[in-house]
Amino acid sequence: DELISQIAAGEVVERPASVVRELVDNALDAGANQITVRLLAGGVRLITVEDDGGGIPPGELAIALKRHATSKIASLQELESVATMGFRGEALAAINSVAELTLLSRSADQATAFMLDGRTGEIQPAARGPGTTVEVKELFFSTPARRKFLKTDATELAHCIDAVRRHALARPEVGFAIWHEGKLVEQWRACGKDGTVTSDDADEAAGSRAFDQRLADVLGADFITASVAVDYRGRDASGRAIRVRGRAGVPDTARSRADQQFSYVNGRYVRDKVLTHAARSAYEDVLHGQRQPVYALHIEIDPTRVDVNVHPTKIEVRFRDSREVHQAVRHALEDALAAPRA
Ligand code: ADP
Ligand code: MG
Repeated sequence: DELISQIAAGEVVERPASVVRELVDNALDAGANQITVRLLAGGVRLITVEDDGGGIPPGELAIALKRHATSKIASLQELESVATMGFRGEALAAINSVAELTLLSRSADQATAFMLDGRTGEIQPAARGPGTTVEVKELFFSTPARRKFLKTDATELAHCIDAVRRHALARPEVGFAIWHEGKLVEQWRACGKDGTVTSDDADEAAGSRAFDQRLADVLGADFITASVAVDYRGRDASGRAIRVRGRAGVPDTARSRADQQFSYVNGRYVRDKVLTHAARSAYEDVLHGQRQPVYALHIEIDPTRVDVNVHPTKIEVRFRDSREVHQAVRHALEDALAAPRA
């Protein structure tokens, strides 16, 4: 079982950034308003993720570390429409099998926090405000062969920051801070309303402002000045709404950087060749390929038209009909890029 867990873990945990991604995922699922990530040695020696979310009741601490234990799906039917970011119940179990993990959590209804030692399974009362701290020490300590594949601390740190950045761009209403070796390396303050679709125009405008603010904070103010707004409403093949929103860089001043292509499907960061191809086609058509596409796009699509459960790292998706998505993204970008600019 130990071996099986470690093999399964290899699928989920590749490097410190994979741990950071999963822990921040969980913090967001728990409804956190503020998430703080602390790292030592690029995350190899220590990763802690602190949140002020709903917490884990003491009776569920041990269960959280079991494989396939998740509090996030009540039924198989729910799989189809699950809105949370993770639902496989593998991450904590996987991390616990390749590192020293402790869970410190206080749920809203508890007067005290409890701490679980992932190795011994011991639970003890502890001090903490409401929320959860997950501490992950000495990643791959028992698998030196895997540890050897890690790059320099600086490179691993950069990947960790990338992982948080991807979440941060999707959730402007949540504040994030990243510390490395005791120094604050990134801080993105919570910026108001979330951008969820609503019939209320004022709410929506506030949501867009929050997204733009977060984009400026994360990618730099020049990303906003050198980009155009994307807002496209179309229909999928079965006639249901498909929406593409965000910003696309324009060539006069935008820096061409392949690492500034961010796409989200129903709030989840994805990398997908259908999307990158659609973007490239639009840039090719309108700007004759003068620059590499630079964008942050949020695609909202009927959840039954997309399978997000393809791979444990959850970056990949499979669209039911890739043409409908390709078309929507291409049109969205073409409209935005071709529109006269103020
Ligand atoms: P999943 O997120 O797929 O359910 P995980 O292994 O990531 O699986 O987490 C297992 C369970 O632990 C979650 O379903 C949740 O109940 C609990 N959990 C993990 N992290 C947190 C957190 N930061 N706040 C509250 N609950 C958490
Ligand atoms: Mg999870």
